[in-house]
Amino acid sequence: MNIIETMLDFLFPPTCVGCGNEGSWVCAECLGSLKQHTNDRCPFCKKSSVRGFLCLWCRERYALSQVIAAVAWDEHVRRIVHTIKFGSVSLCIPILAALLRDAWHVYGGEWNSVVVPIPLHASRMRERGFNQAALFAREFARGACLQYRDDILIRTRATHAQAELARDERLRNVEGAFACKKSEDVLDVSVLLFDDVFTSGSTLNEAARTLRNAGARDVRALTFAHG
Ligand SMILES: [Zn+2]
Ligand SMILES: [Zn+2]
Repeated sequence: MNIIETMLDFLFPPTCVGCGNEGSWVCAECLGSLKQHTNDRCPFCKKSSVRGFLCLWCRERYALSQVIAAVAWDEHVRRIVHTIKFGSVSLCIPILAALLRDAWHVYGGEWNSVVVPIPLHASRMRERGFNQAALFAREFARGACLQYRDDILIRTRATHAQAELARDERLRNVEGAFACKKSEDVLDVSVLLFDDVFTSGSTLNEAARTLRNAGARDVRALTFAHG
């Protein structure tokens, strides 16, 4: 820990993103309670599958081929995901990115890909000041020695928060919300999309569809949790 971090800790003692107790950004108890997700179901229809790959039926319908979630969803994880979305939590990122790498080594490992975060729309970015998905994706990619690109995929229009919508509204809400910049850099490339949580999968799938249309060979997703 450097002198600035020590001073910051003194002025603003770290509080755990899981339980709010002072002392660390993710306390030992919360970290110990996180269970690795088994990734043994198709992410869309929940039929049994291997390593989070989509079943054959869903592969015909969705642009993603695999979704890997790092930890199993529970009340604790819900709180962590909420905190990392709305709080300034850059210091807990290395701890949580290590969980992503563990999951990646087990379920994705040998696959060489370019890591791309789900972008925020410029207006949302101005409002929030940071894109937590990009912070996580960059840290994950650095540790996993994968290329990181946040200049390939952009959000072309602001969408409503998916959490407030019903399933069919979520699909419509994100339709055409992304565009691929620099499509020459996407051509025949395998992309690993990152978002903090997979719920209906509409956002990740729409981003994947955009990248596939631009020529990406394969698009998979890595998320912190499966909501
Ligand atoms: Zn805690
Ligand atoms: Zn399926």
